Amino acid sequence: MSFSLIATSIAESPTLRLNEEARLLRERGEQVIHLGIGEPKNKTPISAILSSASKLSSGNVKYVPTDGLPSLKKAIIQYTEDQYDKRVDPRNIIVSEGAKQALFNIIYSLCNPQDEVMIIAPYWVSYPEIVKMVGAIPVIVTPENGTFVPEISDIEQSISSYTKAIILNSPNNPSGAIYPEELIKKIVDICETKGIYLICDDIYQKLVFDGNMAIPAYRYTQKDIENSKIIVVNGVAKIYGMTGFRIGWTLAPRKLVEVMTNVQSQTTTCVSPVMQSAAEGALLGMQSIVESLRMNMENNRDILMEEFESFTDVRIRKPEGTFYALPDFRAYLRDSIAKNSNDLSAFLLKKAMVVTVPGKEFGMEGYLRISFAGSVKDITEGVERMKWALDPNAPSEIYIGERKLKRDWL
Ligand code: PMP
Repeated sequence: MSFSLIATSIAESPTLRLNEEARLLRERGEQVIHLGIGEPKNKTPISAILSSASKLSSGNVKYVPTDGLPSLKKAIIQYTEDQYDKRVDPRNIIVSEGAKQALFNIIYSLCNPQDEVMIIAPYWVSYPEIVKMVGAIPVIVTPENGTFVPEISDIEQSISSYTKAIILNSPNNPSGAIYPEELIKKIVDICETKGIYLICDDIYQKLVFDGNMAIPAYRYTQKDIENSKIIVVNGVAKIYGMTGFRIGWTLAPRKLVEVMTNVQSQTTTCVSPVMQSAAEGALLGMQSIVESLRMNMENNRDILMEEFESFTDVRIRKPEGTFYALPDFRAYLRDSIAKNSNDLSAFLLKKAMVVTVPGKEFGMEGYLRISFAGSVKDITEGVERMKWALDPNAPSEIYIGERKLKRDWL
C-alpha cells in the first residue's frame, strides 16, 4: 500500500493518544489519575446549553454561511472590543471547528511549500505537524537562556528570507508562561518591518493568575487590521471549558479571511449552527463563569506548587496562566528508571497509574507536562504517586485503591 508522504509523516496527537490510553485503563478498572488532560472539569455554561438547545429544537438545522453565523460574529465583535479594545468588522472574522482548524486554515492559506513558520519551544504539540501538513517547514526556536521565554535575539537569529509567519502562544501551553510586554512589542516590530505574519494563539488569554495580564499583540501596532500582520486565534474550548463544542475563530485582514473561507467551503462547508449557537450563548452569557474557572485554576496551581516543593530534584517554574506546568525531571533520567521523557511518562503510567505528557512532544526533552485542570484530589494524589515512584525520599509504600504497593526499584 502506498500513501501520501506528507500524511504518513504526521505524528499522532500524543495528548489524544494518552486520553485514549487512560480511558482504556479506567475501563479495565484501573485507578488512573489523568494529569495529562487539556480540559477543565466544569459543566457547560447554562447560557450555552439553552442557546444551542433552542437552535436544535427549532428543527431548522441546515447549512449556514461558511465563515460563521452572523449572530455569533456579532458576539465575537463584542468580545474583541471588550478583550482587545479593538473594533473589527464581520468580514475580519471566520468561525472554524475549534482553534485547531482555525490554525490549520491560517497556515494552509498563508504558506507555500518551503516557507518557514517559526515556533517557539516549548510549543503546543500540533503546531509543527500542522506546518508540515501544508508542506511548509517548522523552524523551532528554543530559548537559550534556559527559561520558557525567548530573548528577542533567539527570534532574530532564526528569521530567514523564507520566514512566512511566527506563532505566538501566551499564556503558553505547555509551560504556563506569559511572555513579557516588551518581548511582544519587539516581535510585533520585527514582523511589521520584515513583512512576517504574527499568529497569536490567544486561546488561554483569560486564564491568568496573580493579577498578570497577557498583553495582546494588537496593542503594539499602529496599523489597522487590514494592513496589519497580526492574526488572532481564539475559541470557547478553554475559557468556558467547552472543548467538545469545537468552536474557534480567527481575526485577520479581510483578504486572508476570504481565502480561508474558500478553503473551509471546500472542506467542511460550515460549522454546525447548533455548536455556533452554543458559543454565542457562552459569549453573551454571564462572564462570572470564566472568572470562577480562572480562580479555580489559580487555586489548583497553588496546590500543585505546594506538592512539588517537597519533590526531590524536580525543578518547577510557577505557571502564570493556563492549566499546565512543565517541571524539569532531568534528574530522574537514568538507566534504572527512564532514558527520556517518553520512557518516564510510560514508567509513571505503568507503576503509578498517573498520566503525564512527555516534554519531548513540546520540544522540551527531560520535562513532563502536568495538567492541573482536574480536581484537587487528582492533583495531590497524582503528585504523591509520582513522588512515590521516583523520589527516594518519599515513603516507599503507597495504596492505589485497595492495593498496597512497595517501591523496589530505587
Ligand atoms: N491552541 C492551543 C495552545 C491549545 O492548547 C489547544 C487545545 N489543546 C488548541 C489551540 C485547540 O483548541 P480547540 O479545542 O478549540 O481546537
